[in-house]
Amino acid sequence: MAQQNFLESVEHFIDTATAQVDLPEGLAERIAQCNSTYAVRFGVKLRGRIHSFIGWRSVHSEHIEPVKGGIRYAPDANQDEVEALATLMSLKCALVNIPFGGSKGALQINPADWSEDELEHITRRFTQELARRDLIHPGRNVPAPDMGTGEREMAWMADEYRKIGTSDAINQAACVTGKPVVRGGIEGRVEATGRGVQYALNAYLNHPDTPPVSGQKTAKGLTVVVQGFGNVGYHAAKFLAEDGAIITGIVEHDGAIFDPLGLDVEAVVKHRNATGSITHFPGAETTTSSDGLTYMEADILIPAAKENAITAANCRDAKYQLIVEAANGPITAEAEDILTERGVVVLPDLYVNAGGVVVSYFEWVKNITHLPFGLMDKRQTASSGQAVVSALEGISGRPLADDQRRLIARDTSEIDVVRSGLEEIMTRAFDDIMARQKEMPDATLRTAAYAVTIARIADYYRAIGL
Ligand code: GLU
Repeated sequence: MAQQNFLESVEHFIDTATAQVDLPEGLAERIAQCNSTYAVRFGVKLRGRIHSFIGWRSVHSEHIEPVKGGIRYAPDANQDEVEALATLMSLKCALVNIPFGGSKGALQINPADWSEDELEHITRRFTQELARRDLIHPGRNVPAPDMGTGEREMAWMADEYRKIGTSDAINQAACVTGKPVVRGGIEGRVEATGRGVQYALNAYLNHPDTPPVSGQKTAKGLTVVVQGFGNVGYHAAKFLAEDGAIITGIVEHDGAIFDPLGLDVEAVVKHRNATGSITHFPGAETTTSSDGLTYMEADILIPAAKENAITAANCRDAKYQLIVEAANGPITAEAEDILTERGVVVLPDLYVNAGGVVVSYFEWVKNITHLPFGLMDKRQTASSGQAVVSALEGISGRPLADDQRRLIARDTSEIDVVRSGLEEIMTRAFDDIMARQKEMPDATLRTAAYAVTIARIADYYRAIGL
């Protein structure tokens, strides 16, 4: 097999799974392809001249609206990548059973080349271009953060969308998710993907039918290498370390660090803030990124950077029992074949990193219902809020005022409801994958996960007579 690009790998995974799902003729092809991709070039006057930018928003499937997916800012962004990512969005939403179709966007830009003010200007212009085509819209297409974007960009987008004023004012905040909490965001969204990685690994380990990893059915004491130390990699490492896993290696684009006794995740962040790089972290061994990925040894590898990080070229010597795909598409289809042959289990991206879009769904629901999220579950509010109220009353030695009690109960419960909702969804989705795999015992977890989602999307299409 020749080296595949990301889109070809995703199409290959779809083909492998559709061969095992009973579908009407032609539907597999329909599901494999993106419905539309809008490419836009626009100019922005900056530093005394006009600079041109190119961006994309691809819609994979509108079997449910709105369609959902992040917007990536990266210098090497391209249309194929955006289409592959949009496809994965449809699949992951179907896998975790949240009512969104799939979409994805990108702007070809290196954010580091521009000041904050310039980025704001560029983001607002991009938003105008997307809004013109309803590619940002609370009921049709709802972007979110991805690589190179975060709360700041989402706040600019939401604000620009509000100014354009094309949809009902009452629903405008739901036009993007991943907003700062003070601008209609939800507690726990920033760390949601990393939190989802933690729940995914725990669901795998806890399941009665999965083999133990190094003899263990819990994360405590397992060694972990994380590739990519951005929002997702950092949070995954932090939460797994809290579960007792030992983070022995971190691989970044400019080098890798290794300490068999375990790296202190927060100390690595401090070191990077001070020096600009994770490399030469005191007490750890520093190596090159490619050596790090190929030769580091651990029970678990968590690729949390970009697609195609693990290829046929670098996976042959890698010594991991389990690979947990926090990034989208980090393993090429040919690398996966080699890993499967070697007995390495891969927990697939469409499952592992679905935590971000799940919590985006909570945020979107909060925005369109205008209900503080936690108040929807009175039991949670009562128990978790009451615990904090009692603790505070214990410390101060006097009862809290009624309005203080109400505020605490609500604030405490939003993050509690987000976490417990996410955990439940991740656990249930893993049960669905395992149940499907039982029916096709030779299939990888990826093929089983694809089969679950493709069958669900096909049901939607059948229901509308397509
Ligand atoms: N960018 C994230 C992803 O790839 C989140 C998407 C969303 O929240 O809509 O899943």
